[in-house]
Amino acid sequence: MMHIGIDDTDSPRGGCTTYIAALLVEKLHNLKAKFIDYPNLIRLNPNVPWKTRGNGALCLRIECDEAQVEDIKETTIELVEENADLTYEGTDPGIVFFYGEIPKEVEEFAKGAVQGIGKVKTAINLLRRFRAEAIGFKNGRGIIGGLAAIGGTLKGDYTYELIAYRIPENRGTLRRICKESVIEMDRIMGNQTFNNIDPETGRILITPHGPDPVLYGVRGESPEAVRKAHNLIRSEEPIERWIIFRTNQGTDAHLRPVRSVSEVKPYNPVVVCGVVASKPRVIAGGHVIFSISDGSGSIDCAAYEPTGRLRDVARLLIEGDKVEVYGGVRPPSEDNPMTINLEKIRVVEVAPLKRLMNPICPSCGKRMKSMGRGKGFRCKRCGFKDPSAEKILVEVERSLKPGLYITSPRSQRHLTKPFSRYGLEKHEASYTYERIIPYSKFSNLE
Ligand code: ZN
Repeated sequence: MMHIGIDDTDSPRGGCTTYIAALLVEKLHNLKAKFIDYPNLIRLNPNVPWKTRGNGALCLRIECDEAQVEDIKETTIELVEENADLTYEGTDPGIVFFYGEIPKEVEEFAKGAVQGIGKVKTAINLLRRFRAEAIGFKNGRGIIGGLAAIGGTLKGDYTYELIAYRIPENRGTLRRICKESVIEMDRIMGNQTFNNIDPETGRILITPHGPDPVLYGVRGESPEAVRKAHNLIRSEEPIERWIIFRTNQGTDAHLRPVRSVSEVKPYNPVVVCGVVASKPRVIAGGHVIFSISDGSGSIDCAAYEPTGRLRDVARLLIEGDKVEVYGGVRPPSEDNPMTINLEKIRVVEVAPLKRLMNPICPSCGKRMKSMGRGKGFRCKRCGFKDPSAEKILVEVERSLKPGLYITSPRSQRHLTKPFSRYGLEKHEASYTYERIIPYSKFSNLE
């Protein structure tokens, strides 16, 4: 058994680590390697400071003869060298080869890299201990993701993504797929696929916008579902190849519940409970900021403008509301304290909202009118007057209801679990080897 982990080969100028994995699947197939899992796409912590893109690492898991190992390693290294954007400053590719069963320690390391920040030193210690091999290009940081992809065995919840790639001459041009076919696909597939379309704007979310080779990616609950969805999408440009990944996308794998506000640390995405301690304020750009506290401390929470309905919900909060907030944690800067960038809010309990209102007429029940400051109130309907009446505090109904609120699909992280997936969580890896094929369209495997 051999696991090949690859990370950080792409740059904003182009490329995509998933594409290198797709090419490698074809080459390993030609070398007669036997796949024991779908290629895994492991999204790492989206809040690490040096990453602005998807932060996805890949792992291929195969069975092969000992005699083939050198060939497989050579092929992998060559492919990464040919396809990685090595001249881009922030691109530091890594490849890891791991043999045999995945030990708990490596699974723990992967969890750490999804929920926090993995360290090169820890990765290297594990590589030594378990006699794995690694090639780190440039500063070698890619080894972290490579090992994390290997340890990301997806034994809990997971989803699938089918990614279709463009032919080289079309890359960098406008993507041409039939929008209506995506809307129709979304309708037919129901909750078996997710985040195809942003319901608030009608925007198609399956196509990226950069110069990378991805034409589209369909996310869903099973290989069959993403295959069916793919067959329903009409592409107006040729598809070079497609491949199905098993992935931690849409599972909230990055969010770690902490017991108190004081345990919230920069760069570690959290779920934490608290009581709204300051009235939400809208700042330049339409972002909404409020703070929560729980006795152990308090922290700012931000719902940014593109989070759409989540921002609208944040504006309705008042002091005293009990909430559970979900999101990445930005370290303090010169201008701002440490802040949770919200992905979800669960409103646990709404505080009573009281407003000063005119008193009710004791004789006919209508709300009275003021006769001037300090001069009491008068009823317009029946003429009743009370010069000593004062405004009264009245509890008014809250428009905000308890419940879970999630950022709009267009601003969801790859890892964010969308509404449609609640109740569909998987609890163990239940795929079988037979179901793995076809994993990719490149030969006669179909
Ligand atoms: Zn009256």
